[in-house]
Amino acid sequence: MKLNNLPSEFQEALPILKKIREAGYEAYFVGGSVRDVLLNRPIHDVDIATSSYPEETKSIFHRTVDVGIEHGTVLVLEEGGEYEITTFRTEDVYVDYRRPSSVSFVRSLEEDLKRRDFTVNAFALDETGLIIDKFNGLADLEAKLLRAVGNPAERFNEDALRIMRGFRFAASLDFDIEPDTFTAMAAHAPLLEKISVERSFIEFDKLLMAPFWRKGIKAMITSQAQKYLPYLENAHDNLQQLLDDLACNYHFKTSEQAWAALLLALDVKDVRVFLKAWKTSSQFQKDVEQIVAIYRFRLENELDKMEMYRYGSCLIEQAEDLRAGYGLPVDFKRIERLDKELTIHDKHEIVINGGVLIKELQYKPGPELGQVLKEIEEKIVLGELANDKEAIFDFIRKENK
Ligand code: ATP
Ligand code: MG
Repeated sequence: MKLNNLPSEFQEALPILKKIREAGYEAYFVGGSVRDVLLNRPIHDVDIATSSYPEETKSIFHRTVDVGIEHGTVLVLEEGGEYEITTFRTEDVYVDYRRPSSVSFVRSLEEDLKRRDFTVNAFALDETGLIIDKFNGLADLEAKLLRAVGNPAERFNEDALRIMRGFRFAASLDFDIEPDTFTAMAAHAPLLEKISVERSFIEFDKLLMAPFWRKGIKAMITSQAQKYLPYLENAHDNLQQLLDDLACNYHFKTSEQAWAALLLALDVKDVRVFLKAWKTSSQFQKDVEQIVAIYRFRLENELDKMEMYRYGSCLIEQAEDLRAGYGLPVDFKRIERLDKELTIHDKHEIVINGGVLIKELQYKPGPELGQVLKEIEEKIVLGELANDKEAIFDFIRKENK
């Protein structure tokens, strides 16, 4: 198959392929961008694979960065862009199921394509627009099927992350998983316990954010693979419930919201412990925890100024959007209004602070001062006290603080 019109992202990178060829090597576009152009999907990051070894690649171009030279990847800065150029590699040997124990560079394109996960991810595209399809990926694209390259059992045994990637691509592409591939995914799912949680998180997160996330979750729970992921051992029914209860056209707007929905569906008590096990950042843990807290608060209460102030409109909107997904009543106008009515959004906006009270009203540092400041903050937020030095001092004197 030949593409007549290469999209601009490839056009711009053609001089790179040409330079490599003129130096006596082969170079092709590979990976997700080739799949995406065949599916008429927008392209991001154009990956290039070459028969030149990393040192050889570096000698061809003026400006390069060693971004992953041990894996054969050199970043080339040219034609106004950045291109990752990776030497053809054979299947890496994954001794501990975590990371490749060695990377072998080879000169053959076919060897490189063989180590790729799914047939639709194993195309190469040359300078003339010719699609090289060694594993019948075009037929699978047509049939919207995810099929492992080669023997599926071997491929998932080599790298169990491919199991997560399978669910993720089902979710992003709306593809079904070919039956033998699916059987092998389910059979090798226990190996998910051995791969790094960070890698699983990235794929799971992409799955949740994908347009057909339901399809990914459905495939995951049908295969029972969730059993081997942190704190999801017994999650089958709760995940099914999530699919049943959320509106069928619902999409998560942010990763934080998606993970909050997951935790709510699982009725997790300690959000931090769960997300720590998934090795997420503390900022992420904090934001998810707050979305969960807002959602739970809202099951029994209306939002008011104090919650607007405490959580901020961004997290509140995410929790409310999730409520809408569950068919619960929401009032975004009210949130907007409450947010507008807030005289302060942060305690640093208060015109006085502890230092001022110590200096001007002879307060002593300590818990009592903390208590007074907290009370002032609350009164200002609720609109019961003006954010004005005189008014605050009056209040302190009147209340005999
Ligand atoms: P996306 O559009 O989300 O970037 P992608 O297909 O480009 O999807 P990447 O993770 O960017 O996925 O990987 C680029 C390519 O590298 C894949 O298309 C696939 O050919 C190969 N690949 C990546 N990870 C693996 C893996 N664990 N096993 C085998 N091949 C892989
Ligand atoms: Mg990619």
